[in-house]
Amino acid sequence: MHMAGWQKCLVAGVVTSAGYAVLPGDGPSRAAAYALAGFTCVGLILAGIRRHRPQRTSTWYAIAAGSALWIISSTIYMVTDAGPWPLVAGLFSAAGYPLLCWTLIGLIRGRARADGRTVLVDAGIIVAGLALLYWTFVVGATLTDDAVRSGERLLALLFAAGDISVIALVSLLVTTPGARSASYRLMLGALACTGVSDVLVIATPGDRPYQSGGPAEVMLVFGSFLIAAAALHPSMRRLTVPLDRPPMFVRPRLALLAVAILLAPAAGLYQGAAGTIDRDWLPSGICSIVLFALVTVRMVGLVGRVESQARNLSVLVNQDPLTGLANRRCWDERLATALAQGALTGEPVIVALFDLDHFKRYNDTYGHQAGDELLKEAAAVWRANLGQEDLLARYGGEEFCVLLTGYSDEQARVVVRRLLAATPYHQSFSAGLARWDGVQSAAELLDKADRLMYASKSAGRARVTSDHVPIEHIHPVQAG
Ligand code: GH3
Ligand code: MG
Ligand code: MG
Repeated sequence: MHMAGWQKCLVAGVVTSAGYAVLPGDGPSRAAAYALAGFTCVGLILAGIRRHRPQRTSTWYAIAAGSALWIISSTIYMVTDAGPWPLVAGLFSAAGYPLLCWTLIGLIRGRARADGRTVLVDAGIIVAGLALLYWTFVVGATLTDDAVRSGERLLALLFAAGDISVIALVSLLVTTPGARSASYRLMLGALACTGVSDVLVIATPGDRPYQSGGPAEVMLVFGSFLIAAAALHPSMRRLTVPLDRPPMFVRPRLALLAVAILLAPAAGLYQGAAGTIDRDWLPSGICSIVLFALVTVRMVGLVGRVESQARNLSVLVNQDPLTGLANRRCWDERLATALAQGALTGEPVIVALFDLDHFKRYNDTYGHQAGDELLKEAAAVWRANLGQEDLLARYGGEEFCVLLTGYSDEQARVVVRRLLAATPYHQSFSAGLARWDGVQSAAELLDKADRLMYASKSAGRARVTSDHVPIEHIHPVQAG
């Protein structure tokens, strides 16, 4: 049976991890086996980069470099006889964290198309929540214990910071929607192995957390092969497949942040129940302030996004896409408001409805595209000839309407004549001008304007007809 490179790598990972677990001996021979397995995996990652030429080469080199640093660190640890973490090994290990975090941030941003600020604020919320847990249950005692050497204290601090950052970023990554490739899943598997190994180490009491051939070490070996398999899988080329549109605030992410916020009070409750509350009031206080500040920043960002979406939506719903004028829906709403207002104030409301003359002929002569241009150009010119308060809308096709409030009949006629004269490309329209009688419905008022408009059409077009003044000829149709 033919197996792909990444499948062979997985099989090799299972075999090597099992062999490693039962390998007899300790010290240098085991360290050599560990280093051999680890560096083979780094070599496979490099081979994967060369074969598949990924979009983001730097991400993959960072993964290779981070793996190498961790293998060196563990190897030094194994050849060092007894006692806790040697400082040099610890520093190599700590140097791997920034590389991993950088990789994770790149993955999150690539998937979510999120801006960096959002990712950082979310990560900050989780880090702040976890920091308190770590302080309370993992490192607090070590960091404040005078008997612990300063080198160890530094390492404990660096590891805690690294672990917390990685946990925060991984939880953001898995709650970011987007396509999940095989390579991406293998990488998550590797991260899970490292995480489980870390938990085992933290939970192991005593000076020497890694036992030779123990589960924590075996998990690390298997994790290396998972990363190598991720690099050998063809889908490694596009580890991050961005979404078509920015994601909404997804539920898993919301749940994650909620848990992070609740960690602070939960730790306080636990300490209260355990009777140790007075020892740790400072970290809880600082952590709660940081958490609430970050959550507030996030909420301000979210509200801003919702507001801008609402603005975009309202433009879409109320605007005619071709001319940029108000559409019929917007017109209906504004006319109803104007009539309601007029009923209260007694202010006159006049509606002008007009329809381009022989527009079909224009389309047929110059083409539909040119017809569109005329509509756009005419809309812009008419708009420029109206006051701020006058509403010009596209009623449909080549029909437009103007809402004039506070105008006398004569003033309104002057305005519409001005629009007729300004119509571009020597074109004209026929208009009907209806004045609201104070009791008509909007539909009745428009119906009257429509009838007056047709009176203008039948009288020869290019003119304005209003209900008080007989049909008039205003603007002779010019050749063109
Ligand atoms: P009249 O003077 O009687 O109004 O004649 P007309 O040709 O303007 O009237 P008719 O209703 O026969 O034709 C209207 C034309 O408007 C037909 C339609 O193809 C065109 N039209 C409607 N909407 C658009 C548009 O968005 N773009 C273009 N280019 N043409 C449109
Ligand atoms: Mg027409
Ligand atoms: Mg028409």
